Amino acid sequence: MAEITLNAPQMFDLSGRTAFVTGAGSGIGQRIAMGLAQCGADVALVDRRTDDGLAQTADFIAKAGRKSLQIAADVTSADAMADAVARTEADLGPLTLCLNAAGIANANKIEEMEEDQYQTLMDINMKGIWLTCRAQGRAMIAHGKGGSIVNIASMSGVIVNRGLNQAHYNASKAGVIHMSKSIAMEWVGHGIRVNTISPGYTATPMNTRPEMVHQTREFESQTPMQRMASVDEMVGPAVFLLSDASTFVTGVDLLVDGGFCCW
Ligand code: NAP
Repeated sequence: MAEITLNAPQMFDLSGRTAFVTGAGSGIGQRIAMGLAQCGADVALVDRRTDDGLAQTADFIAKAGRKSLQIAADVTSADAMADAVARTEADLGPLTLCLNAAGIANANKIEEMEEDQYQTLMDINMKGIWLTCRAQGRAMIAHGKGGSIVNIASMSGVIVNRGLNQAHYNASKAGVIHMSKSIAMEWVGHGIRVNTISPGYTATPMNTRPEMVHQTREFESQTPMQRMASVDEMVGPAVFLLSDASTFVTGVDLLVDGGFCCW
């Protein structure tokens, strides 16, 4: 029998890799950025927030012994995304791991919604992902080392959330899932994998505001596991999809939803 060279734990090791995380100042993106650093990556932290969110993420990463770069930028700006990728490569090295979590959510009945509410959300959730992927893919194609991109979609891209009037949000997330599959096929020859994670209800600032208490209970009771996800529970799936543990996985939507879509 040929020598077996399998080393399963090493597949998850991100040492020496450069990562780029949007939405890194809060919630899911913030926790995943921290997790990537714990697995060995240096991480560019991108967010439009001007509070101390990015600094908190950077602090955690420094304590984990890794480097980070804080970039205040808006994912709806093509120039800002191109510049953010260029700064990342100049400071941290060739970009091979990307996790795009920047996004917004809101709700309103379609018959009462103004066009700008629709457009703003679409610009961030859909066009923002397209612009961010384009900047990241251009860099990966240029350096020729390949890479892995994970876009955060939502189970709302697969199901319609009972009781939530958010046709624009649901459509944006369905768009992210199919756009990511399409980009995965465009770039398969460049060694660039593109996948999505679709979280179910997750305890982030989006869902834990005091005025959300009643709705949060609804979310929990509708979920087969009878609770929301913690942000930590998004880290393992992200590490899996970004690391060499998933080198044959591309164009996939990974539902991380406590069983929600089974019912
Ligand atoms: P969050 O805590 O609000 O984090 C999102 C971060 O992205 C915020 O810091 C936000 O800044 C930033 N951001 C928004 N628009 C941006 C832009 N144009 N440019 C740069 N940064 C921008 O929300 P989260 O719950 O972690 O959500 C992260 C992703 O997961 C989103 O795509 C969301 O749709 C998805 N998701 C969340 C859930 C859930 O239950 N929480 C479920 C499924 C999917 P601001 O605070 O200034 O907006």
